[in-house]
Amino acid sequence: MINEYIARKVALKDMQPCVICSKPATTVLYNASGPDWLYTCDIHLQDNPQFVMPVYSTEYNEALVQLKLVKEKLDRLASAQNQLGSWDGWVTKIFSKKGKQQKNDSKNPDLAATESDDISPEARNDAEVLLETQKRYSKILDNVTELQKKNRKYELTKIMFESRILRKKAEQLNCERYRKEQENYSNTDPEELLRKHSFPSVPKQGKQ
Ligand SMILES: [Zn+2]
Repeated sequence: MINEYIARKVALKDMQPCVICSKPATTVLYNASGPDWLYTCDIHLQDNPQFVMPVYSTEYNEALVQLKLVKEKLDRLASAQNQLGSWDGWVTKIFSKKGKQQKNDSKNPDLAATESDDISPEARNDAEVLLETQKRYSKILDNVTELQKKNRKYELTKIMFESRILRKKAEQLNCERYRKEQENYSNTDPEELLRKHSFPSVPKQGKQ
């Protein structure tokens, strides 16, 4: 059995006690390689490293690397501009001047020229790069958040997974005992045998 569980939803009528807090839960972590499954509240799937860890997609991990790179660039640009004062105030100033300048261009070229004198084209370019980088950063951040929400794959902690393996073995022993008893006491009422041994049923997939 490999440590790979997929979170699924079951119908309300198929709710089972949560493995952590025993409240009725509609989410089941299903491991096809067992098969093994355990019911859990959604809340325990978040920030609960003693129980379970999300296994994110390659796409998510790549987006995360991108996010870190863009964040570093953003910090660099922002700190460079911070030396000249609050950068967003500064950026706003440049762009409002730029807007004014464009309007004035047609009416009064002389005034536009004097107004833009105090901001060098280089500084304006820096501000544009900063704004672009910030836009890019929020876009990647949105994507990361989206991919995080979409994740359904989980890995149990070592202790938790080992306890599942032990449980699985105990279940298999129970099954074997049942088969043997059936063979040895073919006269025993099968109903009674079934009552003595309980078999868990595979969870049915509900609406996602
Ligand atoms: Zn719970």
